[in-house]
This record gives sequence, structure tokens and C-alpha cells, in this order.
Amino acid sequence: MLGTHGETAKLLAGGHSLLPMMKLRFAQPDHLIDLGRLAGLKGIREENGTLWIGAMTTENELIWSTLLQARCPLIVEGARQIADPQVRYRGTLGGDLSHGDPGNDHPALMIALDASFVLQGAAGEREVSADGFFLGTYATLLSPGEIMTGIRIPVPQPGTGYCYAKLKRKTGDFATAAAAVTLRLGGGHVEHARIALTNVGDTVIRAVDAEQALIGKPFDARALDEAARLAMAACNPVEDLRGDADYKRAMTGEMTRRALSTAYERAANPARP
Ligand SMILES: Cc1cc2nc3c(=O)[nH]c(=O)nc-3n(C[C@H](O)[C@H](O)[C@H](O)COP(=O)(O)OP(=O)(O)OC[C@H]3O[C@@H](n4cnc5c(N)ncnc54)[C@H](O)[C@@H]3O)c2cc1C
Repeated sequence: MLGTHGETAKLLAGGHSLLPMMKLRFAQPDHLIDLGRLAGLKGIREENGTLWIGAMTTENELIWSTLLQARCPLIVEGARQIADPQVRYRGTLGGDLSHGDPGNDHPALMIALDASFVLQGAAGEREVSADGFFLGTYATLLSPGEIMTGIRIPVPQPGTGYCYAKLKRKTGDFATAAAAVTLRLGGGHVEHARIALTNVGDTVIRAVDAEQALIGKPFDARALDEAARLAMAACNPVEDLRGDADYKRAMTGEMTRRALSTAYERAANPARP
């Protein structure tokens, strides 16, 4: 159907981003293609050390997945902070990622987890890394005629600490600033670090300099200060009802600090939840 209708059609997943866009006349598709009954786009499973999540899996299904709770709790922690229960019953992981909204939370979670996305078009299937998929506001690597079918995530190694720290004004709001982190320790120093930032630029931002400042060093107050400083330097927020740019930059530093501290605690004490 996408092939027949071309750019006059839009895919409809949970509708919780697309329908608001249509109400505002930012999107005016002639045709909606409902993905709701494609069973192959649903489900969560583990295959050879990789998690596969169908694009039409809802936030609520992520939250209640015992597989994700055990094998990838960062997704559960992140999904619980998205919107409100009504939205989470309809909104899908694939829709959240495909929409390309810098305010959406899954892009940062997926970058922190080294995820990749499976995209299918008439010409065939390709798999692209989450890091590099998000090009700008509402712009992604998805080509016209392509659909995201699933998400692949390498199961985090044992001892991987994680955290999604999100500042929002109230339940149901998008982030004022948020940071997704994974962190692993080895031999008394940081062996692996991923830091990705939500809603403080025109798309999700991976704070590469902040990661590099941590890797190979002990996790101490100095390293934490430096990582938070570099995350603030990496972001580029604009003023809106959630605050001015300076406030959002400061909150980016604070969310990075909190996410790293919690991830470190979890990495250092893996037996604790
Ligand atoms: C009140 C409110 C609060 C919200 N708060 C948050 C929040 O805090 N954090 C957050 O992350 N999100 C938030 N959202 C957005 C919500 O999570 C959306 O559900 C989500 O962004 C889009 O998912 P969806 O399944 O509803 O997609 P839809 O709205 O159906 O689609 C969104 C876009 O993606 C395209 N699309 C959908 N699925 C695919 C696919 N498989 N392949 C290719 N293209 C596809 C559609 O064509 C459309 O352009 C909020 C929404 C509302 C209404």
C-alpha cells in the first residue's frame, strides 16, 4: 500500500504522535495505513544474545515484559517515564522511534543500548544503528516507502549498570532534559560508557566526549564532574515553556550526573535491583 500511495500515505501505529500532528494540520495524509493487525510486528524475544522487539510493541507491553525486566531493565525504567497510562497502552516503540521527535525518550535509550533498527521496503531489508538513525527534528534514516519492523538490542553484559534520569514538569509531559546511561566497570575503572540526551537539541544527542572522559579511569567525583560538564557542552537546547536554554543546559548536567551515579551504583552492586 505504501508503494501504491507513495508520500500521500502515512503509517498509523498507536496514533499518539500522528493524530496530534494531523489535528494541528502539520500532517495531512490522504491515506492512513493501519499497522494494528500485523501480528508479525509485535512481540519481544531473545535470540542468540540479542533481544528482538517488534515495532508495534506498546510501551505497556515493554513495561510488563518479564524478559525485559530481567535482561534489559533500562527499557522498562525508560518506558515507565513516558507520558501517562493512556498513551502507554497505545503508543508503540516503533512509532516513538520513527517519529523523530527530539522529545521522545526511546531514541536516547536505544543509543545507550547500542540498538539497531530493522527497516523493510519494497527493495528489501536493511539494519541500521540507532546511533546515526536520527538526523534532526522529525527526520530519520527511514526512506519513503520503508517501514520499521523491529528493534535489535544486544543483551547487556552482566554487571552493566544503567539509568534513565528524566526531569519533567508533571506526569504526561515530555522531558525538560533527560539522560540515558549504560556503564560497566572492569579492574577498578570504567570499561564502557554510553550517554545519550533527550530534548536538549534538534534531535537526540550522544555525549561522546563525556563518555570518553570516563573510559579507562576510576569513577570518582572528578570524573563525574567532568562528564556532566561535557554533556552540558554537547547539548543545544532552545527556550520554551519548560525553561530557557541556560536552565535546560544546567538540568542536562544534573540528569547526566544522576544517571551516571545510579548506573555506577548498579554496576558496582549488581545483586541489588
Ligand atoms: C499527552 C502525550 C504525552 C506524551 N509524552 C511522551 C513522552 O514523555 N515521551 C515520549 O517518548 N513520547 C511521548 N508521547 C508520544 C507517544 O509516546 C507516541 O505514542 C509515540 O511518539 C509515537 O508512537 P505511536 O505508536 O503512537 O506512533 P504514531 O503516532 O502512530 O506514528 C508516529 C509517526 O511514526 C510513523 N510510524 C509509526 N510506526 C512506524 C513504523 N513501524 N515504521 C515506520 N514509520 C512508523 C507514523 O507514520 C508517524 O509518522 C506523548 C504523547 C502524548 C499524546
